[in-house]
Amino acid sequence: MRRKIYPYNGRRYLIDINPLSKVVHDLENEKKSCNIHKVIKPHVKMLDNQSQVNRFLLLNGDYSFCKCCLPEKYQYYNK
Ligand SMILES: [Zn+2]
Repeated sequence: MRRKIYPYNGRRYLIDINPLSKVVHDLENEKKSCNIHKVIKPHVKMLDNQSQVNRFLLLNGDYSFCKCCLPEKYQYYNK
């Protein structure tokens, strides 16, 4: 679910930029197993839409999609 408070600001996609995680989450399809609450604020980067996500992934390598909230993309990109 989207959260209006900082650092989420009601935006849809949460990027966990922790170098040990590097995962893209979709808060519209969030599952408990996403453990969004465990992503600390300095590691939260929020984006609004898929094209912003695509652009981010182009500029930043080694990211993957969360298998809980983005299972189709996870399977496509993590074969
Ligand atoms: Zn997720």
